[in-house]
Amino acid sequence: MGGEFKITECMICQRPDSITDGPRPTGDSDAFWFTCRRCGTYQATGTLTTMGVNGINRRLQDEHGNILFTPAQFAGWVRGISDRGEDPPLLGSNFIIQLQQAFIPRKLDDRISHFIDVIARRSTTMGELIKFNPSIDYPLAFAENEREFIFLMNMLVSEYGYLTLGSQEAGYTNYLVTSKAWRYFEQLRSEKKMRGTQAFVAMWFNDIVSPAFTAGIKPALEEVGYTPIRIDMVEHNEKIDDEIIAQIRQSGLLIADMTGQRGGVYFEAGFAKGLNIPVIWTIQDREVETEDGSKHEIELIHFDTRQYNFIVWKDAEDLRQRLINRIQATNLAIQ
Ligand SMILES: [Zn+2]
Repeated sequence: MGGEFKITECMICQRPDSITDGPRPTGDSDAFWFTCRRCGTYQATGTLTTMGVNGINRRLQDEHGNILFTPAQFAGWVRGISDRGEDPPLLGSNFIIQLQQAFIPRKLDDRISHFIDVIARRSTTMGELIKFNPSIDYPLAFAENEREFIFLMNMLVSEYGYLTLGSQEAGYTNYLVTSKAWRYFEQLRSEKKMRGTQAFVAMWFNDIVSPAFTAGIKPALEEVGYTPIRIDMVEHNEKIDDEIIAQIRQSGLLIADMTGQRGGVYFEAGFAKGLNIPVIWTIQDREVETEDGSKHEIELIHFDTRQYNFIVWKDAEDLRQRLINRIQATNLAIQ
């Protein structure tokens, strides 16, 4: 298959003349390498490659035709992996699960803070110019297109005062990073250093799920290099105290076990997501009594959390093993 046909339209960003290399067989499976000038380098299985853009667009929607992710969000995620120098992703026909587990900034402020990270990574010396080509770099800002990218850049110039507009040459625009931005980068870097290897565990405090922590989550986290932290909450106190907020801020990972559907767990997971801290969702495979009879608890979870790929566990040992697998499969393991 490879070599016999030439693909120039990228399956991810879906722009013509995007592919600069590929499809090139990877050799040890039926997958192919692709390099896109907008999305960076990725691997796609033979199944995904033959699905084509139409097949991929169908998978970017739910069963009711609602769009879960746009090609631009897909492109933004893949380009970000390349930009951070991480291993290129292997995308299969179930790529939507990978997208659901990734952090895709949607709100304007989340997108700006994500893009500030991109700029910070490019900034090594004060006074140095950084340059972008909006027509190929727009996925770096999770932008839909070149125009939206330029709009966001202009926000960083005029509203934030983080960049000064410089000269333009051959499609590229140069920017000077301001001292205001440098102060902010320093603050970001010290916060990241603090995060380190702590993993926050958000879960129900109850005898039913207690073994899930001691024989499941705790040993799993320790095996992959994290120090688990779990803070006892007063059941009747709705207020999430400052101690919990401080501990989540310092964590590099959050495990949210939804068994028992505690409001505090939703809040803590949402707070972590807002800080770009990865969240892994778990829930026990158990039946609960409702007004409509007996139901699997996962069916009762709010819709927006059901989009995430839950680990539905049977017992503590099952949870331990699958949590280790998930952490390793999503490149979150520390050791
Ligand atoms: Zn692309």
